[in-house]
Amino acid sequence: MRKTVLITGASRGIGRETAKLFAENNYRVIINYLNSKIEAENLEKELKNAGCDAFAVCADVSEKKQVQKMMEEIKEFTNHIDVLVNNAGIAQQKMFCDTTEDDWDRLFNVNVKGMFNCCQAVLPGMIKRQSGKIVNLSSVWGVCGASCEVAYSASKAAVIGFTKALSKEVGACRINVNCVAPGVIDTDMNKNLSAEAMEELKESTSLGLTGTPRDVAEMILFLSSDKAKFIAGQVINLNGGWI
Ligand code: NAP
Repeated sequence: MRKTVLITGASRGIGRETAKLFAENNYRVIINYLNSKIEAENLEKELKNAGCDAFAVCADVSEKKQVQKMMEEIKEFTNHIDVLVNNAGIAQQKMFCDTTEDDWDRLFNVNVKGMFNCCQAVLPGMIKRQSGKIVNLSSVWGVCGASCEVAYSASKAAVIGFTKALSKEVGACRINVNCVAPGVIDTDMNKNLSAEAMEELKESTSLGLTGTPRDVAEMILFLSSDKAKFIAGQVINLNGGWI
């Protein structure tokens, strides 16, 4: 039977590329989005035209009720999810002393609570079937911290703690929970960085490169496959040799 993947924040960037790669590898793909309805629906069409099963569904992952409604809508498409990719995320650059309580809550609600809500929604089915893969998106900043991104770095460090703990809790149910920690990847998230800043970031890596969404998608696909069945609770660093 073909496997089904739910990718949050799949309308753009890393999530979109991950959706395409899973479709190319014969998965049935659920594309979650929030604001980018046209992009998500176009991706659904593109994948269907290529002969894949795809389903675009809107939900703000930070809202438990919206995630529950999304799961109801997904029943039209499938009754099981084999792989969950918690990719939806937001970033913000601000001096720590200027960061407001609302900024902090927004980053944690999307980057951490979103992952909590989606894992709670899919895990009962995975536990029942004694099988499943969860891949969470952390960041190099969650590993080593970034100046002017304390709230974002803290939220991405929380993704790592969550991944390690959940992996211990559900590993015995044959559910692999891992996370990837990308360095700088060329997506909208970094579009506010100047060309100069991007050059400096490239030079900080051993490879002298920034990454592509495809680089991250390939690792997510690998971690979701049976080739990675002995990998659990790990943080895979994809940063061109930055740290
Ligand atoms: P991006 O291009 O800005 O895309 C973000 C995606 O997340 C969009 O599809 C957006 O959907 C979705 N999203 C945001 N808030 C959402 C919410 N509340 N509910 C549902 N979907 C939501 O970002 P990206 O660069 O691809 O980043 C993807 C993930 O990788 C994030 O978790 C990010 O922190 C992590 N990451 C990125 C980099 C990087 O350099 N790019 C590095 C390390 C880690 P809509 O457009 O439909 O609203």
